[in-house]
Amino acid sequence: MLNTRRGRPPLLTMDDEERITQLLEAVAGGTGVKAAAAELGLSLSPVYRLRRQNRRFRDALTVAVRAGRSTRMQPVKHGTESTYVNRGCRCERCVPAAAAARAGRKQGARGGRESSG
Ligand SMILES: [Zn+2]
Repeated sequence: MLNTRRGRPPLLTMDDEERITQLLEAVAGGTGVKAAAAELGLSLSPVYRLRRQNRRFRDALTVAVRAGRSTRMQPVKHGTESTYVNRGCRCERCVPAAAAARAGRKQGARGGRESSG
């Protein structure tokens, strides 16, 4: 295994599992490939190069891009806990919905202990 740090070009390989995972997760979450790569300090070319070279990565990226597209196309449904959690929405409908869902889970948990605060 090579370990040359000096002047290391910004490459992406399948050994970079952590970055690959981060990249795919960001893309699947609706971030563009370019923006997701930029977050990892990469340009598009190492990403596309790896996609050409590695079939597994190509398939994973295709799936992630598709997932990201449908995530972006979905209208945001306000007033739900998942919008609060997944989209970080703190609007006047999502905040109480998330609080209610949390309270409901607490009450649903055995005992039904009440606490206000
Ligand atoms: Zn909202």
